[in-house]
Amino acid sequence: MTYLHRHFEKRTDPAALLPGACSVVMTGLSYHRRGAGGADIEPDPPQGEGGVEGRVAMYAWGEDYHVVLRRKLAPLAEALMQEGSAESARHAVKICVDTAPLLEREFAAAAGLGWIGKNTLVLNPALGSTFFLGAIVTTLDIAPDAPMPDHCGTCRRCLDACPTGAFPEPYRMNASRCISYLTIERREAIPAEFHAAIGDRLFGCDDCQDVCPFNRDVPESAEPAFAPGSHVARIDAQELLTWDREMYRSKLAGTAITRAKLDMLRRNAGIVLENAQASTTSPASDAPRDDR
Ligand code: SF4
Ligand code: SF4
Repeated sequence: MTYLHRHFEKRTDPAALLPGACSVVMTGLSYHRRGAGGADIEPDPPQGEGGVEGRVAMYAWGEDYHVVLRRKLAPLAEALMQEGSAESARHAVKICVDTAPLLEREFAAAAGLGWIGKNTLVLNPALGSTFFLGAIVTTLDIAPDAPMPDHCGTCRRCLDACPTGAFPEPYRMNASRCISYLTIERREAIPAEFHAAIGDRLFGCDDCQDVCPFNRDVPESAEPAFAPGSHVARIDAQELLTWDREMYRSKLAGTAITRAKLDMLRRNAGIVLENAQASTTSPASDAPRDDR
């Protein structure tokens, strides 16, 4: 846990969220599972015989992080409310997890939780970048921690690894080219120029995190809600095309994958299948093998 003292820019003013706000407590919760850091991403056995498995970004494998973080932040928020005050003068608090208009990355960096890397994500030397940010805005006045220096150095692996060229320059990402945006946020059809690069990614993309050296030796998350066994890391794309709304709810309820509506997942599944088909009919795979 680290703390940010009052230092609000106009467009990031937490007082707009909570009148009288003095501080923002920034927290990080790891969701790291085996598979990041360049290792083979194979957390689950394939779900169907001979099916085409679509990949899900790691952050969405477990229980919906909005629910998990709120649950974990509630006792801390309660403690802050009572900090140094009589019952009649309890401090006000507001928990923010990705939904309130708060620039969490910038606050996390200012609070010393990490630095914003060239891939535009917050990086922490011990946690890498595979962690969720949670914030508590409070009227309590808390002494700030110092920001952390940038450790990216001359590295540019994330910039070079992006399959769609979404980084026009270090520290800047063009969301309209990012597979995470295209597969999770974009409601309309995905432009054809991105289809091949999407590959088997059904929901999101981890490439600019997988290649980051700071994610290489990160320990797995100790949070049971993100533990293997209860999560969805791959979805059979062919099967998904047959889902109705009831099936969608029964398969994905309680996960962050429902951020994408059923028609969006179907659209993504169509692209994954299109790519699988293309890879089996490409000239390279059709060519006779030369075993000499
Ligand atoms: S998530 Fe994927 S597509 Fe988006 S910037 Fe990172 S590597 Fe590129
Ligand atoms: S891959 Fe390299 S440049 Fe990119 S965020 Fe990680 S350390 Fe920084």
